[in-house]
Amino acid sequence: MQQLDKRYYTLTVKQALVDLNTDPENGLEDQEASLRLSQYGQNVVEDKRRKSMLSTLLRQFSNPIVWMLLLATGAAFVFRHLVEAVAVLIVILINTTIGFLMERQAIRSMDKLKSLARAKAKVLRNGERRTLDSADLVPGDLLLIQAGDLVTADARLISVNNLSLKESALSGESTQVAKNTAPLSDGIPVADRSNTVFKGTEVIKGKGVGVIFSTGRQTELGKITALAQGASKEATPLNKKLRELSVRLIWLTTALTVLIFISGMIRGESLLLMIETAIALAIACIPEGLPVISTLSLARGMIGLLKKNVLVKTLESVQTLGETQVIFTDKTGTLTENEMRVRVVALDGFIEDFSDEISHNKQLKYHPAFHLFSKAAVLCNDADLQDRINGEPKAVGDPEEVALLRLSGDLSDDIEQIRTQNPRMAEVPFDSQIKMMGTLHSCENGYLTCVKGAWEEVSGRCSKIFREGQPQHFDNKTEWNRKVEELARSGLRVLSFAFRISEDIPQQAMLLDDLVFIGIAGFMDPARPDIKESILCCQQAGIKVVMVTGDHPGTAVAIATAIGLSDGEPSSHIHGKEILEKHLSAQTVDRLLQASVFSRVDPAQKLGLVSLYQQQGLVVGMTGDGVNDAPALRKADIGIAMGVRGTGAAKEAADLIINDDAFTSILAAIQYGRVIFDNIQTFVIYLLSCNLSEILIVALASFLELPMPLLPLQILFLNMITDVFPALAIGMSRGEPELVMNRPPRKPSEAIVSKANWISIVAYAGCLTAGVLGAEFYVFSTAGGESKLVNNVTFCTLILAQLWNVFNMAQRKTPFFANQITANKYVWLAIFFCLGALMITYQIPALPSALSLVSLGHGLFGIVLVFSLIPVVLVQLLKRGFGIIG
Ligand code: ATP
Repeated sequence: MQQLDKRYYTLTVKQALVDLNTDPENGLEDQEASLRLSQYGQNVVEDKRRKSMLSTLLRQFSNPIVWMLLLATGAAFVFRHLVEAVAVLIVILINTTIGFLMERQAIRSMDKLKSLARAKAKVLRNGERRTLDSADLVPGDLLLIQAGDLVTADARLISVNNLSLKESALSGESTQVAKNTAPLSDGIPVADRSNTVFKGTEVIKGKGVGVIFSTGRQTELGKITALAQGASKEATPLNKKLRELSVRLIWLTTALTVLIFISGMIRGESLLLMIETAIALAIACIPEGLPVISTLSLARGMIGLLKKNVLVKTLESVQTLGETQVIFTDKTGTLTENEMRVRVVALDGFIEDFSDEISHNKQLKYHPAFHLFSKAAVLCNDADLQDRINGEPKAVGDPEEVALLRLSGDLSDDIEQIRTQNPRMAEVPFDSQIKMMGTLHSCENGYLTCVKGAWEEVSGRCSKIFREGQPQHFDNKTEWNRKVEELARSGLRVLSFAFRISEDIPQQAMLLDDLVFIGIAGFMDPARPDIKESILCCQQAGIKVVMVTGDHPGTAVAIATAIGLSDGEPSSHIHGKEILEKHLSAQTVDRLLQASVFSRVDPAQKLGLVSLYQQQGLVVGMTGDGVNDAPALRKADIGIAMGVRGTGAAKEAADLIINDDAFTSILAAIQYGRVIFDNIQTFVIYLLSCNLSEILIVALASFLELPMPLLPLQILFLNMITDVFPALAIGMSRGEPELVMNRPPRKPSEAIVSKANWISIVAYAGCLTAGVLGAEFYVFSTAGGESKLVNNVTFCTLILAQLWNVFNMAQRKTPFFANQITANKYVWLAIFFCLGALMITYQIPALPSALSLVSLGHGLFGIVLVFSLIPVVLVQLLKRGFGIIG
């Protein structure tokens, strides 16, 4: 693959464009771009090591289980038991093949999700603006960036407008770096290359165009990532917990097998048989499938969540979702529809209500301040009511700004004319920190500054008000303040407007100062229809929902009360400025923890809030959409970015992207996260109870001096058939949504297998043992003690009993015949598959003799069937009859 290692920061804009052979007006031609894509490769920084088939295959052999099996093969060869040696080799082959296939499937799912999570990039190609998957960018592409974007390749800037970036991904510095286009001298370090933007950095302010010179691994970020990858490992906390559990089980098993070995030797069993049994038991007890089955079920969960509009970026997040205790949610668009309509406009001495929707008959347009208001609303506005497509007007941009354009249009002002007569010369983009935006325009009598934003901020910068056709002293702020409060309390979102006309071009830094107040507009943004129900559902699930908004306290409390999130009491509401006080008293902390609405919160305060809750040991989910939200999204245990409204930077920082921006989808994700963890817990319980029963059966039979109930290869067979497939099927279960969302969140410190679970495991294993040893004892005492028959009956009873044991995994509170297990088609498939495999085993030459199988006949098979059902009856008695197990 080709590399470009020119120092583009030393070239002039023209030289860079010539060198990269790019037309600055039209960008690359499509044909040229695809040629370069094959030349330079995709713009991705991925770890190739994990992906190769060979490395996946080799990983299957780095497993102690496989070593033990190889040891067993060696022992069988040494003692000249060729059939067994070959059989164990086949077992190794099957085991590694299953492991290999499952891991490939998990990798494929992860890759699919990764490609979906990949950022999009805007470029100029063939003279058109296009939005591309960032993987398709090539050197020479003209990259268009603006505030909120994540830079997706390294590019030499060719034009900038007030452009600033946060380059902490590269430099670790979180300060903003201003950019320009001037060439620099050679040898300047990366952090000081002010004419270059780098992959992975975030645009905080302004706009710019750059010509891409490095993609993928050639970018600065790519080089760092390549260095860091040597040390990276993708183990989720869940996998770590599973590994810890496996290690503990290995010790337990070793102790038990030594005991069984010694007791066998004392009874005079053959040495080889006892070595093989000990090894087989050890293998039987270690749930080697756990990590890969859990990875698969997490990955499958991620795919399932995608269908519910939720893109989860890491396996770990699926797990954390189930543990979420607090959700900080913004208001606009998440709890509300974000379908804004101007409901009220108030100018000096005048208020107009638009609730009856007959806007063209309104008096507003005759007010002396109306045209100024309309100008500010149209000019200080980045939205567009584009040309009609299919007869429908298609609006783009912030819904609030769209609503303002519609109002002006409806009230007869020509939007396009206003915009062409007053071209924009400079701007201060909206920022949730300053809660305002401002634009500078040239106009007939000089320069016009238009400002809109939060009442507190705008009014603070206005010393005059536009009254009776001219600026006058702003002497009635208190009255206006009351008006704003009143509108906010009725649930309206309020924006204030101001202007200034000057003869000279004002300095950028002074653009928002010394303004003349025009008036306010109140917007209606209805709550989402399903939101009340979702909030209630969260409350039942023990999840605290907290509204954290940049909006006015009155609006925030009104909406929160309407949707059942707050009781409207003053104690439930807190103003953002209280969050960042340096030394919080215990009482304040308590108030902050009790509150359900935080208003006028800026991104730094959001971060403070997340930290405060995390310090109390709570697992916090936080939603966000702006570029400034990125730190809080990263800090939260689950950062949730909005798919529609979210900026590239917010999406990059988040763990979860909600494609439809709806709060309900967050709830669905949490429910899913809980179900997935439950499934993992259930198959762990299932596997451990089956394994424990095998140990108990062999140990008890040996103490009771019954014939060997299970031979080594039979144990291996049992595990390959009854362990993996039913466990996999349980991992696919849909869960019991009502039960799952009717209990508090699981604590992160909680072990996968709790004390109560251990009691259940022992109970299930005990019941399995009772049924199977019952069969053995019955046949031993009635069938004349023929040891091969006795062994076969025990073996078959255990196979069936373990298969039926799947049905014991249903929760006590659900009916026996209608629950998540019986409703799971994969469970039935697994059972049929296992029964089929058992039947086929009898037909394949050499296999019955390797497994020491003989034909049982109807009578004995009847006994097998009856005794295999005994554990289910016993467990159900304990579960539903006596309520001893859950
Ligand atoms: P939420 O966090 O629930 O989405 P929000 O949208 O009100 O609430 P911010 O986007 O931080 O939060 O906005 C804070 C305030 O800034 C708003 O209440 C409004 O007064 C003002 N504001 C919002 N958008 C704009 C804009 N495009 N131009 C000017 N001012 C704005």
